[in-house]
Amino acid sequence: MTMARAIPSPIVTAETQAFWDAARVGRFVIPVCTTCGKAHWYPRAICPFCDSDKIEWRAASGKAAIYTFSVMRRAKEPYAIACVTLAEGPTMMTNIVDCDFDALAIGQQVVVKFVETENGPPVPMFRPAA
Ligand SMILES: [Zn+2]
Repeated sequence: MTMARAIPSPIVTAETQAFWDAARVGRFVIPVCTTCGKAHWYPRAICPFCDSDKIEWRAASGKAAIYTFSVMRRAKEPYAIACVTLAEGPTMMTNIVDCDFDALAIGQQVVVKFVETENGPPVPMFRPAA
């Protein structure tokens, strides 16, 4: 149940700096295009839907559904890697934590949980919704 493995620090770039700054204070934000109104993931300077450069960071709900997942049982400390679809639309690769691996299911509702890394900002992972 407990995430025991060490999580490597994420690589912070100019395009992701704002995301990690927010993560450090426990805020989960995603890029939203103010021209077409759509959220996207991963962060980038140009909207993938309409090519606009009018992107701003907005607070996300932290709610998502498991799109697909795989449990890495042969790892030293087993973990579940997953793609989750955020309530705001984009799909994000992540880990599912604080869970019974055998009870995970596609479509299951999950919520964001920031997990500490070795010496960088915390990374967003997801746990089953209550
Ligand atoms: Zn757009």
